[in-house]
Amino acid sequence: MTEVSQNYVGGEWVSSETGETFDVQNPADPDETVASYQRSSAVDAAEAVAAAVDASDEWRRTPGPERGRVLRRAGTALADRKDEITEMLVAEEGKARPEAAGEVQRAIDIFHYFAGKAADLGGTVKGASSRDTTLYTREEPVGVAALITPWNYPIAIPAWKLAPALAAGNAVVLKPATLAPGVVLEIAAALDEAGLPAGACNVVTGPGSEVGSEFIRNDGTDAVSFTGSSRVGETVYEQATDAGKRVQTELGGKNPTLVTDSADPAEAAEIVATGAFGTTGQSCTACSRAVVHESVHDEFVEELVARAESIDVGPGLDHEMGPQVSAAELESTLEYVDIAQSEGATLASGGGRPDGDAVADGHFVEPTVFTDVDNDDTLACEEVFGPVIAVIEVDNFDEGLAVANDVEYGLSASVVTDDHTEAKRFVDEAEAGVVKVNEKTTGLELHVPFGGFKRSSSETWREQGDAGLEFYTIEKTVYDN
Ligand code: NAP
Repeated sequence: MTEVSQNYVGGEWVSSETGETFDVQNPADPDETVASYQRSSAVDAAEAVAAAVDASDEWRRTPGPERGRVLRRAGTALADRKDEITEMLVAEEGKARPEAAGEVQRAIDIFHYFAGKAADLGGTVKGASSRDTTLYTREEPVGVAALITPWNYPIAIPAWKLAPALAAGNAVVLKPATLAPGVVLEIAAALDEAGLPAGACNVVTGPGSEVGSEFIRNDGTDAVSFTGSSRVGETVYEQATDAGKRVQTELGGKNPTLVTDSADPAEAAEIVATGAFGTTGQSCTACSRAVVHESVHDEFVEELVARAESIDVGPGLDHEMGPQVSAAELESTLEYVDIAQSEGATLASGGGRPDGDAVADGHFVEPTVFTDVDNDDTLACEEVFGPVIAVIEVDNFDEGLAVANDVEYGLSASVVTDDHTEAKRFVDEAEAGVVKVNEKTTGLELHVPFGGFKRSSSETWREQGDAGLEFYTIEKTVYDN
């Protein structure tokens, strides 16, 4: 019988007041139900917020080094279960095992990293005009933080919100994505084992429109950190600001790699292929546009197609590229393939469902390359969120830079070039929160800021590193005479 997981509220594992559950299916084999979760309501969400409010005082008064010890123990508890959690991640979300193992390791590292930061948080002594006055600033927690997270990095993204929030002394309520909630409940179990006070972290599964909305609306929450689509995130931003809350939204992308005439076509194809097809193209930073100088275009396309065709697609436990997360995501990708063809793009590789017994039933799609894409085609403008790359040919560097920037999004952008002046211009002028030279658009270090420009982010706050802590702290200035 399928295991039914419970919500984690007030330090207890509890069922929803609705009495209802929902199932998560394995995207590689949708007949397999991986687990069942509570289909919670706004009432459950409000109870979680109340538990966080109750716990807030104790956790904020817990000294930073002790908060750090709890986070370190939680990271170690996750590490102890790394293999099981990796398999759960593959079963629910579908990514390939090495990618899933890397993501779980990232979550562990994040807890250990912010464990160190918790001990360092405190404040700074400043010079005062009077010798009798001790003047200093203190970093205080914001209060109760509501965290709403997507399915595509179902453990790393919750970790990079939870760990700094807790390090800074906030209590939290978290709503994981409905498609892959299991690994977040593993974090809750690790925090419980680590001795986090009851109520300091609460996790409630269920629909975003009910549980997430209540977290945003409820007077008990002080800050909202959301990662997901621009469509939902922009509404969340408005709701949270209208309610007078501090809000951070990290949203979609349409990330370019500019391939200049000095680039080695094979090296550029490798960079674009790993950026575009890794995690089945389901990364916010995935490369979805290759903007390529005409002098290297044909050789680049040949190399890219060869790489796309060599990718071993199948169930993530033992293949290189897993399925899309759901039937709806697969359908959406195939629709973009149809649209691209109807708008005149040339299908150079893939574009359909792969053949073979191992992939007969799952939400698999071939790595797909389109050439002859115009800059204003749908495929060049909208986030596909599948393994589809649009190759746009340009005549010169200036045109390439303009095309790279000519989208509503601005999350990650990269250039492949042997010319340092071009690299420098790209770094200066690329409209993206993350800019890379001779690297893929995907892949992030945990200790440097992450966020986007334009529709990719609310821009005011960044995540990860010290910048990630700022969202969860508020400064107090003390004059002590
Ligand atoms: P999504 O549909 O926007 O959902 C994100 C989260 O919001 C889920 O937990 C969802 O719950 C919840 N939600 C849905 N409607 C809501 C509402 N009305 N109020 C409050 N919460 C609500 O995004 P997704 O499909 O999970 O994730 C893919 C998207 O995330 C892509 O666009 C990708 O680019 C973006 N992303 C951005 C970053 C970044 O850092 N910039 C990182 C990763 C992903 P349910 O699951 O119950 O619907």
